[in-house]
Amino acid sequence: RTDDDWLHLPNRWGIPVDVCAGADVPIESGAVDEILTVLETADTLERLGSAAGCGDAAISRVVLTPDFHKGAGIPIGTVLQTRGALVPQAVGNDVNCGMRLEATSLTADEVRPRLDALEPRLRHLFFEGGRRIALSGRQREALLRDGLPGLLDTGVPQASAEGVWSQARPGDGRPGRIHGPRHPVTTAGAFRDWIDSAGGTSYDSIIGSVGGGNHFAELQYVSAVHDRRAAYAWGLTPGRVVLMVHSGSLALGHQAGATGRDQARAAWPRGVPLPGNGIVPLALDERSEPACRRYLDALGGAANFAVGNRFFLALMLRAALAAECGEFAADLVYDAPHNLLWREPDGQVVHRKGATPAGGYAEVAGGPYEMWGEPVIVPGSMGAASYVLRGCGDPRTLASACHGAGRRVRRGAAARASDAELDAFLREFRVVTPLDHRDPAVARRSDVMAAWRRDLKQEAPWVYKDIGPVVSSLRRAGVAEPVAELRPLLTVKG
Ligand code: 5GP
Ligand code: MN
Ligand code: MN
Repeated sequence: RTDDDWLHLPNRWGIPVDVCAGADVPIESGAVDEILTVLETADTLERLGSAAGCGDAAISRVVLTPDFHKGAGIPIGTVLQTRGALVPQAVGNDVNCGMRLEATSLTADEVRPRLDALEPRLRHLFFEGGRRIALSGRQREALLRDGLPGLLDTGVPQASAEGVWSQARPGDGRPGRIHGPRHPVTTAGAFRDWIDSAGGTSYDSIIGSVGGGNHFAELQYVSAVHDRRAAYAWGLTPGRVVLMVHSGSLALGHQAGATGRDQARAAWPRGVPLPGNGIVPLALDERSEPACRRYLDALGGAANFAVGNRFFLALMLRAALAAECGEFAADLVYDAPHNLLWREPDGQVVHRKGATPAGGYAEVAGGPYEMWGEPVIVPGSMGAASYVLRGCGDPRTLASACHGAGRRVRRGAAARASDAELDAFLREFRVVTPLDHRDPAVARRSDVMAAWRRDLKQEAPWVYKDIGPVVSSLRRAGVAEPVAELRPLLTVKG
């Protein structure tokens, strides 16, 4: 964290930049250049403001989270608060990528003996045609336009059970946060129809895709509790099995991002040179209003799709668990977005690219989390702990936290790790991928196995930072307080 005095020194950028990472959290050296990329945008906004005649487009605050690292243009782990303009590239490509967490009524002891049977079942469901999610045209439209509640209102059993996503209707530009009482999201059986029968509608080919790379659907259990009262309130009791889903809007988000970039370029004032760093903001003025609306419509649709996708991924985990362990209940703990923008009541825009909201009592007042603060989900890796924290609404970080441990080893370098290291990991942890590496026919194909190993090494626990110091830096900085620690039972990747 920087000292506030820093701001008042002469010859300094007049933008508050907070780096929320403890000394024991390594930040890559190239990150300094990345900060400069963000700060260049301050200059762009100033020029845009004066050209557009509104005069006050500016960056109000920049926050860098402990998992801050290189991204395209604006780095991942950046929170950017602007006024007079929004910056589509500060949202991240995978619009509304996020983490969904559900607490089940099952315990680790009940699930562990079923893991051998769960593996092939999950592989079939996720990768071998078992995922046949039937949506009518009307349901798809309802999901994009009105979010998950809109979809559930179309007549699915127990539809009202999930009135959680206060997602904007197209045009009002507020892909909002999640509201509504903590509620049972029903047992898997109530939704089974959606997964295995078309019921006169066609199957959707993309919804229910994990999305590859660092996305995952994971069965975890509560391995330690740090804040007993909050943990119990959220259903995170010791030994409890939880479902964590990390995915985004797949192709839709990339489309929305492209729409944002195109609209920003088209609306860019004539005669003003385009910014050299390629980061093109959209002025929030009358002239750019249609361009903004088109972008926010696309953004809202993609954001809604992402929540729906995470819902279905969790549902698939629930369906497999129910088939192996019998019916059980599951409660939504939270669905936390980390690539999104928020328009604040005072007209400012908070962009979070690879950063997650960590609101405190004030930010969640009147909702189900007001006693504790907003749930903050910080995954570690498929071979390490993940954490649930409660947000403190720290104004210096714009009530934001990191959305993971963050990558430590670049993808290219990660692929060069030894096979022995990977094998040691695979003996200890369960990973379900599209390819069944235990199938002798697969194991004989050395080319196929080499490609599979290369992909998996890029996601191995050692490529991510140690989650412990990351979480303690959040606590020490007053950003969020640890509530519970989660350990993986099985990870679906691919
Ligand atoms: P993102 O891809 O959104 O930038 O970051 C996701 C974060 O999730 C990473 O920084 C990493 O800490 C974490 N992560 C990546 N893969 C896995 C996984 O398979 N399981 C868990 N629990 N965490 C993961
Ligand atoms: Mn993500
Ligand atoms: Mn993503």
